[in-house]
Amino acid sequence: MDFEFSEQQRMVRDMVRAFAAERLRPGAGARDASGEFPADIFRELGELGLLGMMTPEAYGGAGTETLAYLLAIEEIARADASVAVGVSVTNSVCQWPIAHFGSEELKGRVLPPLARGEVLGGIMLTEPGAGSDLASLRTTYRRDGDRFLLSGSKVWITNAGIGAFFVVLATRDTALGAKGISAFVLDARQPGVLVQPREKKMGLRSSVTAAVMLEDAVVPAANLLGSEGEGMKVALATLDHSRLGIAAQAIGVAQAALDEALTYAKQREQFGRPIIEHEAVGFRLADMDAELEAARWLTYRAAWLSQHPGRLSRTSAQAKLVASETVNRIVAAAVQVHGGYGYSREFAVERLYRDARVTTIYEGTSEVQRMVIARALRTMATTATD
Ligand SMILES: Cc1cc2nc3c(=O)[nH]c(=O)nc-3n(C[C@H](O)[C@H](O)[C@H](O)COP(=O)(O)OP(=O)(O)OC[C@H]3O[C@@H](n4cnc5c(N)ncnc54)[C@H](O)[C@@H]3O)c2cc1C
Repeated sequence: MDFEFSEQQRMVRDMVRAFAAERLRPGAGARDASGEFPADIFRELGELGLLGMMTPEAYGGAGTETLAYLLAIEEIARADASVAVGVSVTNSVCQWPIAHFGSEELKGRVLPPLARGEVLGGIMLTEPGAGSDLASLRTTYRRDGDRFLLSGSKVWITNAGIGAFFVVLATRDTALGAKGISAFVLDARQPGVLVQPREKKMGLRSSVTAAVMLEDAVVPAANLLGSEGEGMKVALATLDHSRLGIAAQAIGVAQAALDEALTYAKQREQFGRPIIEHEAVGFRLADMDAELEAARWLTYRAAWLSQHPGRLSRTSAQAKLVASETVNRIVAAAVQVHGGYGYSREFAVERLYRDARVTTIYEGTSEVQRMVIARALRTMATTATD
């Protein structure tokens, strides 16, 4: 067992940490207030190779393994979680399934512009009546010669109206259940894709989220991922892997909250001494520190397991569950350490509190993670580490 980062992992972390400190952290509060999507920052992230991290070099990506990617997401989220979600979506729920389930021709066509950051990507799974229960989706597809036509409505789509390529799930016939569902790569820059007004969100305010109507949206037959009927398989494999990015995002926000709380507790004096010297405050910070470290190393281990096919599902669900529930406890504690000032927009913890909230909801709620873990447990005689 070796807990040292590799040369590449350390290099990526240090590079992103420096970029985040200089380019992301200073404007994070202003972007949260204005809600403006930072296109210039995404251009720079593309130039740094951070928008196609796990995509193989043959298709224009950086070809890094999962942990280096997670370290980048963590550092970005520590500075600005809104930027982190955009980066994670284009990398992990768009390019990752294309790289793993697309034909050579499709990969050669769509991955290079995505990986170079010339265009952004995303995923369209959720519908008004299908969130956690994805297999009940109602967006349909029909074959029309050498193309498919997709119709239906998708909601909560990150990068809608900004991204070019989206992985979309649709069914041939709702009566077929999960077996009728296929996954496609949709070019959203066409008349049949109607992006609705942006959602007004609690947090992640400079990340763009919107509903999308599909009206006979055209998808070339060559843009199918896997075979027809394999859509759920593609989606579940993608989410098993991508939810590690949400765990990393949670860890980054939690680190920022702990940093803020620590600085404040050393400066703020009450009853004649810095509040960190009051045991209740010191112990609160100690719990935050210990819980963050536990979530972090569970996530890093899951990243290591992701290189071993077939073993990831339970561990990635554990990491996402623990990291997202942990960050919510940590941001609440950080606000408490700040007293009344934690309730003010003048202090970063107020934004961190709002940005953390969604991590127990998207890419599978905490309840869904527990379902994934419980399903794995049903087939296991023991959970003792082998
Ligand atoms: C900011 C943001 C960005 C998003 N980006 C995207 C995106 O890019 N693409 C995309 O496709 N989706 C996206 N989503 C959607 C997100 O993945 C869904 O909101 C999430 O999967 C939950 O679905 P739902 O909102 O329909 O909730 P529901 O599924 O309706 O769940 C409501 C509640 O019921 C619980 N519940 C449901 N079923 C069960 C059960 N069997 N047992 C116990 N509890 C249960 C849930 O855990 C939850 O607490 C985004 C959401 C947000 C908020």
